Amino acid sequence: MSGNEAGGMDMFWMKHALCLAARGAASGEVPVGAVVVRSKEVVGEGYNQREKKNDPTAHAEIIAIRQAAGNLGRWRLDDCDIYVTLEPCPMCAGALVMARIGRIFYGTKDPRWGACGTLYDIPRDVRWNHSCTIRGGILAEDCAKMLREFFQARRQPAVQGGEMAERSKAGDSKSSRR
Ligand SMILES: [Zn+2]
Repeated sequence: MSGNEAGGMDMFWMKHALCLAARGAASGEVPVGAVVVRSKEVVGEGYNQREKKNDPTAHAEIIAIRQAAGNLGRWRLDDCDIYVTLEPCPMCAGALVMARIGRIFYGTKDPRWGACGTLYDIPRDVRWNHSCTIRGGILAEDCAKMLREFFQARRQPAVQGGEMAERSKAGDSKSSRR
């Protein structure tokens, strides 16, 4: 692998995932975006849509791999890579193993839910009959910043709305943050 070229492509796809995340933020979703790539082509993409769909499983990665499997007409995605702005949670890490995804590239670590090396390391557990290559830290600061700004903006009106609003908002943001 010629490092520089691979690095450039990684950043290119992560920027694409960031654009998807921004779309989520614009509609009030926690901004996480994911893109599934095969032979330098997008085969699936998604962003967190838990609020809109009232679906606890509507994470960016799940939406993206469902779309990829639909487009390719098969569930096995071993020749695909996924780029996601936030380290996948246990559900998504499990789904990525189930999809036999080739490689996982993520942006910022998730200290609360991260299951690709932080709390768990599900895709690299040798007990599965499939293991993925994982690389984190791609445009990590941009990915973290988008999340930080989203939560900051969401907290602001609550502070002005008084203590009760602040309290319920804080509870809400705590429970609904991935
Ligand atoms: Zn997830």
